[in-house]
Amino acid sequence: MRFGLSLMATVSLAIGAASLYHATFSVRSQWLGRTCWRGRRDRNAVALTFDDGPSPDTEGILDTLAEHNLRATFFMVGREVESFPGIAQRVLKEGHEVGNHSYSHPSYLFQRASETRDQLRRAQDVIARTIGVRPILARPPYGVRTPAYFGATRALGLLTVQWDVAGFDWKRRSANQIARNVLSKVQPGSIILLHDGDSSGKHHRQNTVAALPLIIEGLNARNLKILPLHQLVTKSDWPSATG
Ligand SMILES: [Zn+2]
Repeated sequence: MRFGLSLMATVSLAIGAASLYHATFSVRSQWLGRTCWRGRRDRNAVALTFDDGPSPDTEGILDTLAEHNLRATFFMVGREVESFPGIAQRVLKEGHEVGNHSYSHPSYLFQRASETRDQLRRAQDVIARTIGVRPILARPPYGVRTPAYFGATRALGLLTVQWDVAGFDWKRRSANQIARNVLSKVQPGSIILLHDGDSSGKHHRQNTVAALPLIIEGLNARNLKILPLHQLVTKSDWPSATG
C-alpha cells in the first residue's frame, strides 16, 4: 500500500515535471500563452529572424539582406542596443522588423515576476528611445516562457514569436553547417532562427554572416520566398501597435 502510494506520488511528480518542462522549454507549447512558431504555409515563403544583437556582425547581415532586397526580423537585447545604437538604427532604417529579446538576456525561469517584467519593459524603453519604434514582437531568451513572462507580454501588447528551424549557430558551427542545418529542415511557413550577436559577449558571428548568402541561395533554389514576419504570420495573430 505504502509502496503503491509512493509510486503514485513519484509518477505524478514526474508527470508534473515533464509538463512544466514542456510548457516552458518546448518552443511550440501553447500551454502558458499564445506563441507563434510558424507562419502561413500557403505562401511558399519563410521568415529570417536574428537574435542577441545588435553587434558589429549585424552590419554584414544587413549588407547581404540589402544586396538581395530582403526584410528580416531582429530580436534585440536592450543592453546591446545601448552599446550599438547606430547599428540598431540602421536595422530599422533598412526596413527590418525589431523585436524585444529582454534587456540583459537572463533565463526568465530563474527570475522573480517583477524582474521578468522589468527586463521586458526596460528593453521596450531602450529600443523605443534609440530607434523611435516600440516593438510589438517578443522572443524570450533561450525560448523559455513562464507565467510571469506572459503576464508582462500581455500587458505590453507583445506577440511571442519562436521558431521551427534553427541554424544552431550558437554551437560554433561552420558557415556550411549552419546553412545545412537550416536547409535540411526548412518548409513553407518556417520561421528560421539565427544569431547576429552573442549574449555572452564572447563570440563573433562571422560564420552566420558567411552562412546567410548560402541560405538565401538554397531557399531560392527551392522557390521559397523570404518575407518579413508581418507578411508570413496570419493576420489575426498580428498584434496592433501599442504606440
Ligand atoms: Zn538569445
